[in-house]
Amino acid sequence: MTLNEQVEKMTDIMASFIGYTAIHLPDDVVSKLRELRDAEDDPAAKSIYDMMFENMRLASELGRPSCQDTGLVQFRIDCGSRFPLLEQLQAILVTAVRQATEKTPLRPNAVETFDEINTGDNIGTGAPSISWNIIPAWNGCAISTYLAGGGCSLPGHAAVLMPGEGYEGVVRFVLDRIAEYGQNACPPLLVGVGIANSVDTAAQLSKKALFRSVGSRNPNEKAAKMEQLLEDGINAIGVGPQGMGGKFSVLGVHIENAVRHTATLGVGVSFSCWTHRRGDIVFDKDLSFTTSTHPGFTYEQ
Ligand code: SF4
Repeated sequence: MTLNEQVEKMTDIMASFIGYTAIHLPDDVVSKLRELRDAEDDPAAKSIYDMMFENMRLASELGRPSCQDTGLVQFRIDCGSRFPLLEQLQAILVTAVRQATEKTPLRPNAVETFDEINTGDNIGTGAPSISWNIIPAWNGCAISTYLAGGGCSLPGHAAVLMPGEGYEGVVRFVLDRIAEYGQNACPPLLVGVGIANSVDTAAQLSKKALFRSVGSRNPNEKAAKMEQLLEDGINAIGVGPQGMGGKFSVLGVHIENAVRHTATLGVGVSFSCWTHRRGDIVFDKDLSFTTSTHPGFTYEQ
């Protein structure tokens, strides 16, 4: 294959994959929703879960996005320094988003700030957002996609707490946000919490947390315990699916952490909704691929 043919192929695969993730939720999210539905006693809440499953069935049958708000596309990339298309990757992803917007179709959501013009193709200044990590001496490339809806991005928040506020302050910060805005973000929510030294590091980690597989735990034992305690605490508020009340309000709570300055305690919180449209795809150097989130995804040229 020539370089141009490789670029075209990877662009096409990524456009199809983004479109596929808009229609089909990842396996871990579907399993978690099933688990929550089965464990729910409240008839109204149970019927909301049933509607979600009916929504998923229809989206899949009709080939239409699982929600009208197909969000803004965000990528997290762990790309090998020896991946043959590393130099072309940014342009590939931009074109793939444009293609997916047209073909799927995705709703055009990108509005240029200050000009206040919708670009019409989900491309614009800083869009799609791409977070890079280069892996030395690897010839593959792992790409995670996420369609960030407006309703679930809205409650996101970050601040720097006085260190004396401690981890109780972090818990208060997260619970306050859920109590104020949680019901607007289409629960059950996936809650990403970042704990670090400043607003930017904490906010970035809170988004990174949303890319983890639902139900995974922070490798630090204390952080993992806090994830469980936050899950229990948020569920106890009783927001329930779609804010209608119920036993469960979250798909999970994921914490990502980094060092803090001795005089600061940065905390960020990001949310995703029940239609948590995350996808993981890993390319080989010859552009064959695997996807753990969407094993049903296939690509034919
Ligand atoms: S929060 Fe999620 S489910 Fe609700 S409208 Fe936005 S994208 Fe759709």
